[in-house]
This record gives sequence, C-alpha cells and structure tokens, in this order.
Amino acid sequence: MADDGAVQVEATELLRTLIRNACVNDGAVGSGHEHRNADAIEDYLRDTGLGFERYAGAPGRVSLMTRIEGRDRSAPTLLLMGHTDVVPVNPSGWQRDPFGAELDNGIIWGRGAVDMLNITATMAVALRRLARSGFRPRGTLIYLAAADEEAFGTYGAGYLMTHHAEAIRADYVITESGGVPVPTPSGALLPLSVGEKGVNWRRVIVRGTPGHGSRPFRTDNAVVTAAEVVRRIAAYQPKASIVDVWRSYLAALGLPAETTAELSDPDRVLEAARRMDNVAFARLTHACTHTTFSANMVRGGVKVNVVPDRVEIDVDIRSLPGVTPSEVDGMLAEALGDLRDRVEIEAPFAEPGSISSSDTPLAASLARVTAALVPGSRIVPRLMVASTDARYFRWKGVPAYGFGLHSPRIPDTEYATMFHGNNERVDVDSLRLSALMWEALCRDFLG
Ligand SMILES: [Zn+2]
Repeated sequence: MADDGAVQVEATELLRTLIRNACVNDGAVGSGHEHRNADAIEDYLRDTGLGFERYAGAPGRVSLMTRIEGRDRSAPTLLLMGHTDVVPVNPSGWQRDPFGAELDNGIIWGRGAVDMLNITATMAVALRRLARSGFRPRGTLIYLAAADEEAFGTYGAGYLMTHHAEAIRADYVITESGGVPVPTPSGALLPLSVGEKGVNWRRVIVRGTPGHGSRPFRTDNAVVTAAEVVRRIAAYQPKASIVDVWRSYLAALGLPAETTAELSDPDRVLEAARRMDNVAFARLTHACTHTTFSANMVRGGVKVNVVPDRVEIDVDIRSLPGVTPSEVDGMLAEALGDLRDRVEIEAPFAEPGSISSSDTPLAASLARVTAALVPGSRIVPRLMVASTDARYFRWKGVPAYGFGLHSPRIPDTEYATMFHGNNERVDVDSLRLSALMWEALCRDFLG
C-alpha cells in the first residue's frame, strides 16, 4: 500500500504540472505550445536512464517519445499514447481556476483532468516504475506524449505517421478513452473503445437576393431560407443501423430484455431513445446507432438594414463505421428535400470511421489485469462517437484501443459532460488505478 501511495502522489503531481502548463490548442498552428508538457514529462522521467526523441510538426508543437527496447524482435510492440494538448475553456462556467490544478478532497480540477492528461501522466508513472525496476520485456514498449490531438493530430500523431512512420511503428496501441465504470446488476462494466465514428464536415451555402431591409415583403432573404435548412437538418434522422459493437455493449449492460430488444432494433431504437429519462444514455444510444447531423455554425448577413444574400451553415456529421462520404451526401440531400437545389454544398473535411477487433491478445491481457485491480468488473467493447489519434493506427490495420481505469467516485454520467465541458476533474484514486493498470499490463502483455 505504501507503494500504491507513492504511485498516487507521483501521478497527482505530474498531472497538476501538465494542467498548469495550459497547452491550449485552439486549432491554430501557433497555439498548443506542447513543448512545455514535453519538457515536464522528460524532466519527470530523467532518472530512468531512458533516451528521448522529440518531434515537432511545427514550431513548439513537440511530441515526446521514449522506448524500452524488447529482447525478442518477434514479440509485439505496444505503444502507450497520450496527448499533451487540451481544448480552450470558458472560465465563467467553472467553479475553479481551469488551469490552477487545485487539489481538494482528493479531486484535481482543471482542463485536461480527464481529456487526457490523466492518462498521459499515469502512463508516464508506469513507464518510470518499469524502467527503474530494470524491466526488460520480450516485446518493445513505446511511450508517446503527442501534440495536437485536439485538432486532428495534424502536427502530432498525423505528422508522425507521415514523416516518422518507422519511429511510431507498433503492433498494438492504447490511448484514450474508456474504463469509466458503468454500474450494472452484475457488476461494473469497463468500456474499451474499439472503434470510432467518421467525421464529415459539410458547408451548406444558401443564396438570396440583396435588398433594402425596410422593404422585406416578397424578398428572397437568405437567412430565412437558412433557418428552414437548419430546421430540416435538426429534424432529420437517417435510418438507424445496429453495429455489432453496439449490440454486444447493450447485451453486457444487463437491461430488461424488452429494453435491450428495442435498443437493438433499427425500427424502434429512435423512439426508445426519445422516451428515455437518462438524457446522457439517450444521446449515446442515438449516436451509436445513427449517422448524426448537427448544424453548429451559421454565418450570414452584412448589415442590419440589408436583406442578406448569403448564409453559410457548417454541419458536423458523424458517420457510423462503413458509411461512405457519398452516402453522407445522399443523407444530407434527403434532409434538405426540395431545398437541395437552392443551396451549394462544400465538403471541407472528411475522414472515415475506424474499428479494431476486440478479440486480440492485448484485449485479453487488459481483461486479466483489470479484473485483478477492480474485482467483479469486466471489460466490454464500445464504439466511441468522437474521434482520437487511435484512428491513424486502425486505418492501417493496427489494433488500437481507448482505455484507462477510473474509480466509481465520479459517476459515469458526469464524465460525458466533462469532456470539453466545464469543471473537468478527476479523483486521485483513479490516477492510482490507471498507473498500476498500465504497469501490470506492460508486464503481462510484453512479458
Ligand atoms: Zn483527448
């Protein structure tokens, strides 16, 4: 236990340092400044004797990598991958300083506490313990603290994949996110993210005819047309699709048989989600069974006394794995109906979804070590509805999972609101559990 206490203290202090470094990534190439967190992690690992490689996809956008070389070239290489950047905050919504890393009653508050500086820190703690113990595994262990995950990894994992593929080559990858216990009648489920939805952004451009705002009668006002476009997109629901990983996740939840049947029936799942009292679960259910459409930005008009002739609507579309961009375009056309011919559509960004098999030696190893650390728990594969750097590896056929261990202290329904939300926080027991889990996993899996 004394040893466990040291793990918790180390992970807590490293996490607080990473939060305070405030590597805020707003999407601009000049933001992030991840060199600060790369320096902090290298400092923390200095007494391990490990060597470090630094890769900068752009000035200041430093990713830090280190490795423990395996004894056996035929044994698998495992990559533990964290990211060091965080998304911006709106401090007015927070109860604490978002970059103060306050520790109060065993809870650490701050941007990145769960996305995902907690995991980046606990992976480093495990690596330090392994290295200092003289761990010489069969397979190679790589640790990567990547920049720029929050803006699609362009200057982080994506840059490494394109320019340093050999350095980042691995047979298995673990990164965020999962492992928040979901209570069920038969014990806690620990979700393992095995796949992600695709990202398809579309810009709908609505045209009108300019005129004087004092004579609006029978004008062609682009804002008015755009309002109807937004309404149709919000109301649109493509047909549900039940992917295997959703079906198995549902089965593991141990819900009443009729509920499970409804939520795995493409004809009934939408209505069932509409009726649910638990809004967080309704959103998850909907997102795991549908390609979703969310109109999130609108720009238009030039002056209050001018009838506008142009409005742009940016729509965030998240496609189920296997749904192609042309199928997405077909759905958007269906949503717009007779307004399709009144608008232009641009496609500024498109990435397919990704999925890994959950039947791998790494998943089996994770199940063994977590069952020992959290008695009575079991791992269950899950689809992530947002995207992470794991996709770069899955696209190449490398199994990549999102995981981490969390105590039951903060309920699973709270976690969904903390990612990119206000009052992001984590409890120190979760840090202890994760650090011990990474260490046990490396010993179990790499041998
Ligand atoms: Zn993240």
